[in-house]
Amino acid sequence: DAPAAGKASTRYDLEKETELRFEVESGEAAEQVELELLTGMAEVFGSELNRNKKYTFGPGSKIAVFTWQGCSVNLYGKPEVAYVSKDTPMLLYLNTHAALEQMRKQAERDNERGPRVMVVGPTDVGKSTVCRLLLSYAVRVGRRPTFVELDVGQSGVSVPGTVSALCIERPADVEEGFSVQAPLVYHFGSTSPGTNIKLYNKLTSCLAEVFSQRCEVNRKASVGGCIINTCGWVKGSGYQALVHCASTFQVDVVLVLDHERLYNELKRDLPHFVRVVLLPKSGGVVERSKECRRDTRDEKIREYFYGFRGVTFYPFSYEVRFSDVRIYKIGAPSIPDSCLPLGMSQDDTQLKLVPVTPGRDLTYHVLSVSSAEDGDEGARKGIVESPVCGFIVVTHVDTQTQVMKVLSPAPRPLPRHTLLIMDIRFMDMK
Ligand code: ADP
Repeated sequence: DAPAAGKASTRYDLEKETELRFEVESGEAAEQVELELLTGMAEVFGSELNRNKKYTFGPGSKIAVFTWQGCSVNLYGKPEVAYVSKDTPMLLYLNTHAALEQMRKQAERDNERGPRVMVVGPTDVGKSTVCRLLLSYAVRVGRRPTFVELDVGQSGVSVPGTVSALCIERPADVEEGFSVQAPLVYHFGSTSPGTNIKLYNKLTSCLAEVFSQRCEVNRKASVGGCIINTCGWVKGSGYQALVHCASTFQVDVVLVLDHERLYNELKRDLPHFVRVVLLPKSGGVVERSKECRRDTRDEKIREYFYGFRGVTFYPFSYEVRFSDVRIYKIGAPSIPDSCLPLGMSQDDTQLKLVPVTPGRDLTYHVLSVSSAEDGDEGARKGIVESPVCGFIVVTHVDTQTQVMKVLSPAPRPLPRHTLLIMDIRFMDMK
């Protein structure tokens, strides 16, 4: 492997328990940065690097190369920043993993279930990174943990506006993260839990139920436990959603990143047998702007249709007749209690399926294709709690001919005819 032609290279010699942090410039024109381990051992967010292999990181990547024993690495290209830090919480994170592993060992011995862990904290404290680290460490010692993604704004598993669960069978790929095969995905429909907190809590319960069912029939999954990533909204209903999640998943451990008040509140409000642990955030975690978050979301949808890095997908574009599908939005606008029909509660309105009449305003919206069987009115009941089998984007609506054009990962016809509309839009600029 010759060094990338024409690219500047910088060598870093890292002492033990230090990390090299670097950021790749964002923007279309930005140059990628390559990383190569020359001597010693190192890892990126819990995944070990192979020696003399070049890892490529694209625009906007924010990476830490950590070494337990010391190592030297080369960076090729011009990172926006690159520096070595001696001050990292990695030892605390490793100890956390060791404690969880003890719990798994004990679960194995006593024929009980392994640790269910919820990771909480405000935005940009490294929650997703800690989840990835703990999952990779667990799988490296032979466990099969489940990753539960409840961050509807920045999902690491599926497109934004969804919650999901994924069985982890191998460490995250250094460049691409966890291999996403057959995740269980539910439609939420927007990037903030606050738009429909009842639905959010309902879906959390759905995931908990499916996970528990799996644990009953799969001993490895049960011992492996789960790591739950949550949203950065930690006040008001957001806080209540965390408490709800802890209870529905019956979590044993809560890791609070860098938020003492949240730590104290959870200690106060969760049952005493739940271990609530306060952990510092890493100084390397980079705050992301609103625009940056929006770009990441867009990119996630683009990847769903067009692929990622070496893998190119070729999506299909075809017409769908309005009469062939049923489109719903979950949740009617809330109305004052006094105006609700007798016997109906706010819960009912937030979980209600509201039929959407196709019109021009549907253009660019992402629609989830529900896995619910196409059926009569009776079948509508299960739609909210049914996983989704994929996503399409409306690219054009013709109200004259009553037809819409869609972008789809699979050729015609749609596998199911019940579609759920998201607030999220995607403009295909390719
Ligand atoms: P959160 O889930 O709390 O919003 P993330 O885990 O997504 O935060 O981290 C935010 C960003 O910081 C990510 O791009 C991640 O790659 C980066 N990051 C995390 N830890 C480090 C570190 N130690 N050094 C450099 N970048 C880091």
